[in-house]
Amino acid sequence: EETLSALPQQGERDVEGTLRPRRLDEFVGQPRVREQLQLVLESARRRGVPPDHVLLSGPPGLGKTSLAMIIAAELDAAIRITSGPALERAGDLAAMLSNLVEGDVLFIDEIHRIARPAEEMLYLAMEDFRVDVVVGKGPGATSIPLEIAPFTLVGATTRSGALTGPLRDRFGFTGHMEFYSAEELELVVRRSATILDITLDTDGAAEIAGRSRGTPRIANRLLRRVRDYAEVRADGTVDRDVARAALKVYDVDELGLDRLDRAVLSALVKSFNGGPVGVATLAVAVGEETTTVEEVCEPYLVRAGMLARTPRGRVATALAWEHLGLTPPAATPF
Ligand code: ATP
Repeated sequence: EETLSALPQQGERDVEGTLRPRRLDEFVGQPRVREQLQLVLESARRRGVPPDHVLLSGPPGLGKTSLAMIIAAELDAAIRITSGPALERAGDLAAMLSNLVEGDVLFIDEIHRIARPAEEMLYLAMEDFRVDVVVGKGPGATSIPLEIAPFTLVGATTRSGALTGPLRDRFGFTGHMEFYSAEELELVVRRSATILDITLDTDGAAEIAGRSRGTPRIANRLLRRVRDYAEVRADGTVDRDVARAALKVYDVDELGLDRLDRAVLSALVKSFNGGPVGVATLAVAVGEETTTVEEVCEPYLVRAGMLARTPRGRVATALAWEHLGLTPPAATPF
């Protein structure tokens, strides 16, 4: 059931590394963020100063890590990578900050999960390029101010709403990443196919792109699964028929729904006559945890226009009925 997860899978990071766009003009899609970022970087370059701190927000798998690396590359700077959960103690962050060289990019993934003491240290570092290191304990403790090299912080978050106000305010620029269109994902898979030496025709690319839930990470993963099929069961070339047959094996349907997504829709429509029904009841009906249904299935079903969250519970839209090959009752909303 993990083929369509937007989160990286075990061992997937390596191949992702080879598929990462290296420069801004290689980065497909996100035209708004790309243009905004290009201005931020270019103006800093002309003024000869490190650019303002950058926050990248958006769902997993849309390219936040790739963009952070691109920012460093465009600045000809080195990048140091860490994550919110890894910065449990302020000392861990102090060590990273004091090792920075002027102009470095510090990338903190999942920055909304940073521990409080580290977050407070980050305020001063972002604002004044300074940290206060506390030495000793209890009444004898003293705080020693330490200069750090001017740097650019790039933070990534899937939940910008979970960031505290003071932290959010210290970013000069926030890039909001959006889901990719099918056309953009087609460009992503075609580029990846070239890098991985996969023969892929236009229809094959379109077939994969349309089922990738607006997410490059998923598009790249489906491409690899289709490649496996093409090599084992066909002559290696990925065309429309091969893509369709392969994605059938992996239980990915034309709209990018997997078995669990369809089970949820099917229960909603068939067992509860389209709803409204509470999410917990729905989860029991498909034998899944409520959180899985709520966090894994629902966001995409909502975005795909097949499920609506109403105050009285979950409701299937006409599109959901049609997707299951059924005729929606006359009273179906939306
Ligand atoms: P996470 O925070 O979960 O790691 P992310 O948003 O940082 O997700 P990345 O790791 O940057 O996502 O990207 C995931 C994969 O998708 C990478 O293999 C990357 O090459 C590819 N990718 C992402 N965005 C693009 C893009 N705009 N063009 C081409 N490939 C992309």
